[in-house]
Amino acid sequence: MALPQASLELRELGNTGLKLSCVGFGASPLGNVFGPVSDEDAIASVREAFRRGINFFDTSPYYGGTLSEKMLGKSLKALGVPRHEYIVSTKCGRYVEGFDFSADRVTRSIDESLARLQLDYVDILQCHDIEFGSLDQVVNETIPALQKLKEAGKIRFIGITGLPLEVFTYVLDRVPSGTVDVILSYCHYSINDSTLEDLLPYLKNKGVGVITASPLAMGLLTERGPPEWHPASPELKSACQAAVAHCKEKGKNISKLALQYSLSNKDFSSVLVGMNSVGQVEENVAAAIEVTTVGKDEETLSEVEAILKPVKNQTWPSGIQH
Ligand code: NAD
Repeated sequence: MALPQASLELRELGNTGLKLSCVGFGASPLGNVFGPVSDEDAIASVREAFRRGINFFDTSPYYGGTLSEKMLGKSLKALGVPRHEYIVSTKCGRYVEGFDFSADRVTRSIDESLARLQLDYVDILQCHDIEFGSLDQVVNETIPALQKLKEAGKIRFIGITGLPLEVFTYVLDRVPSGTVDVILSYCHYSINDSTLEDLLPYLKNKGVGVITASPLAMGLLTERGPPEWHPASPELKSACQAAVAHCKEKGKNISKLALQYSLSNKDFSSVLVGMNSVGQVEENVAAAIEVTTVGKDEETLSEVEAILKPVKNQTWPSGIQH
């Protein structure tokens, strides 16, 4: 099949010098968290993503209890391209066994991740879902440990991830400037929740790169619907279901609309979407190219926004209270 003429846009990530593809490959589905994925589908999805201009791949030891990292490693190796042609981020501190942000655990964690990924270094190592740990430990112990890993050449940049937006300002206000290179926020920049936008001036001022994940709200904005474990309230789930039904009735694809919504704000360096099939890769890359060449379907977007208005910016609790 001929490749589309236009290519996927690359965007600078804060002060890192990295240029990420505007669509990033979220590898959590390779850990079977949205249903089973065969080795063949995983490898083919990563190959197709790279071929179509996706250069950024995100995983974690937590996804599928290390399965996502193993599958991503296998798939990247199968690409057979020089290491500098793709950007890999993984995480530390969150495991199927629980949370541990101690210096000792995260220092061991990167070696385990590198072995599973079959890599000598990762581009970004992120403290995973820090709202479940002590934020003061993250500031005083975890991030300094990650700085040592940076000096050792095992990681190039340091990041933090989480759901409540306050955790980012808490940490960034307390670490020396330039220590945390990137934040990864999820479910706060999709059609139903755009609260991450309010934090952009602060993050820009700090020189921190911003990645937004889960444009499909972890399955809420898909025809297939969310997985069993999805933490949204019944009210939010049913409003999203109504939005999905509305698009379907009009012959429109809600996932495409949702991805295009997230991609339209260029202050986000990459929109990480979870993918587990060649078909999804094709659709998502085509949606990204369409939004830069043609624009998005404003009419359907306003209709969907109207349906979701009663639940706009509704989120769910995550983490321990600080
Ligand atoms: P998502 O909103 O990207 O939704 C993923 C679901 O949508 C999967 O079921 C996928 O198969 C499906 N999908 C993808 N493209 C589709 C299409 N074109 N049509 C229909 N369905 C489609 O949620 P996500 O996977 O949770 O988030 C994306 C990535 O972001 C993750 O894989 C992970 O890498 C990262 N992430 C990180 C954190 C964190 O660090 N705390 C949290 C959430 C997500």
